[in-house]
Amino acid sequence: MTSSDSASTTRQPVVIAGAGPVALTAALLLARWDVSSVLLEAKPTREAVGSKAICFQRDVLDILDRVGCARQAVGEGVTWWRGLTLYRDHELFETTFPQAGQSAFPPFINLSQSQLEEYLFDRVAEEPRVDVRFGHRVVGLDQDDAAVTVDVETASEGTRVTGRYLLGCDGAGSTVRKLVGLPFEGHSFDEQFLIADIRAELPFPTERRFHFDPAWNPGRQVLVHPQPHSLWRIDWQVPADFDLEHARASGELDARIRRITGDAPYEIDWVSVYRFHQRIASSLRVGRVLLAGDSAHLMSPFGARGLNSGAQDAENAAWKLAFALRGWAGERLLDSYHHERHAAARENLRVTGETMRFLAPQDDEQWAHRRALLQRAVTDPTARAQVNSGKLAEPYWYLDSPLTTPADDITGFPEEAGVDRPVVPGVLCPDAPCRVAGRPQVRRLRQLFGDGFVVLVHASDAPQSRAIEPPIQVHRIADLEVDGADVIATALEAAPGSATLVRPDGHIAAVVDAADRASIVAAVGRACGHAVAA
Ligand SMILES: Cc1cc2nc3c(=O)[nH]c(=O)nc-3n(C[C@H](O)[C@H](O)[C@H](O)COP(=O)(O)OP(=O)(O)OC[C@H]3O[C@@H](n4cnc5c(N)ncnc54)[C@H](O)[C@@H]3O)c2cc1C
Repeated sequence: MTSSDSASTTRQPVVIAGAGPVALTAALLLARWDVSSVLLEAKPTREAVGSKAICFQRDVLDILDRVGCARQAVGEGVTWWRGLTLYRDHELFETTFPQAGQSAFPPFINLSQSQLEEYLFDRVAEEPRVDVRFGHRVVGLDQDDAAVTVDVETASEGTRVTGRYLLGCDGAGSTVRKLVGLPFEGHSFDEQFLIADIRAELPFPTERRFHFDPAWNPGRQVLVHPQPHSLWRIDWQVPADFDLEHARASGELDARIRRITGDAPYEIDWVSVYRFHQRIASSLRVGRVLLAGDSAHLMSPFGARGLNSGAQDAENAAWKLAFALRGWAGERLLDSYHHERHAAARENLRVTGETMRFLAPQDDEQWAHRRALLQRAVTDPTARAQVNSGKLAEPYWYLDSPLTTPADDITGFPEEAGVDRPVVPGVLCPDAPCRVAGRPQVRRLRQLFGDGFVVLVHASDAPQSRAIEPPIQVHRIADLEVDGADVIATALEAAPGSATLVRPDGHIAAVVDAADRASIVAAVGRACGHAVAA
């Protein structure tokens, strides 16, 4: 639902600053929990210009599925399974993606951010629990023990909006972050990136192609990504003094594009020049205020971690805010939002920081080192292993979260996470085909998640689902299997007699003995942030 009216004071359970993709996702997820929200967006109307994000990761498609947008996104987007890294004409290596279980979704789709936003706005238009107010700029805030009140500037007047919680999804320059006094620590790069979406018939396969030192951009790099309808994202590394307007006027931009398209006709759909940043808010929670998406963290896009992790922030925040509003959990669950998502952002910054150190050398010596390494990488596997063209998004593993009942044998997020994803507490539960008697719409395990806790029991007798709060569904794995095959049990690596507790966001919270009811109850309590007995 959208509106441009203002009222002198509005009250909603959750106020959201911004109506970007993270805000819209959060609002739709809150609506699933029957929680209403008001989105305050500074822009006077929706702007569908330009793109920014194009790559959406498989597990994020599950989040989009929970808000009703995945079918359209996958139907429209270009699906891809392979990333290829080249040095001049040599193929250095290919990137593959982890597949725990059997997902219905491809590892990545490419779709413009503005198209995804359109799907999200379409869903919002049908959702009475979401009130979007354009032309409403957040300019002040005040909070106490009971509520948070936001001062809003509109074209005609000032107004105030009050909520129990405020979710700051107002992007990189976040006013909310500044108003709660949080520094945005980190640094920015001098090197620039010229990014264009070009419509042309090009002979490239549907894969991510990362070219170091191609003839089209000697000494630097070019990333090429397919998008729907013959649109190509081309991302050139350009020097710090590159001037887009001069390049347009002088014909340099056309010449650059022609080096890739040859004589084929092309149209520029969108072009911009970016400097990238590596920054993080020092905390993601200050009292009743949570930060999500680019307001909380900003990273270079090589690896597609910005919006993908912003959607995961939205999902993490939504169920915790809903639990707090329902009285099912309290301060500790809200604190775990900072704990889990700050750790995820730090990991994303670590990974993208390493990539940027390789992609944007800071002095002549580093450039020379990179040139020599790339040359050696053609024949030397050790050198090849050091070439970094971006590590693609991997949902964070909450191994050391206070909500996770830890497994004994795994303790930290591994350096090379993403290659093999273990099935252990803290990690996203794998997907698999599934069926539930009386619920024909459920065809995949992950479609069971999102509305409470789920306990998957690998035992002949399962405890019953209970109408308690928070809601807990209990399923016997054998009853969920399609055609009697052991696909779910295999994907879960479920030992006979075990029970896997899955959180509303699909992360495994615990694997316990199904016969030990007390340990299931304790794991649920822990996953709700209740104190754990020593
Ligand atoms: C070139 C490029 C390529 C990228 N590629 C990818 C990719 O492939 N995959 C990926 O996952 N990520 C990618 N990203 C990152 C992705 O675009 C961002 O992470 C994403 O836009 C963040 O969404 P958001 O909703 O947090 O913020 P935004 O999209 O910035 O939305 C914030 C909203 O808040 C509004 N706002 C600001 N201030 C106020 C205020 N005071 N009051 C009210 N409203 C306000 C703004 O108008 C805006 O609508 C890329 C980024 C760039 C630059």
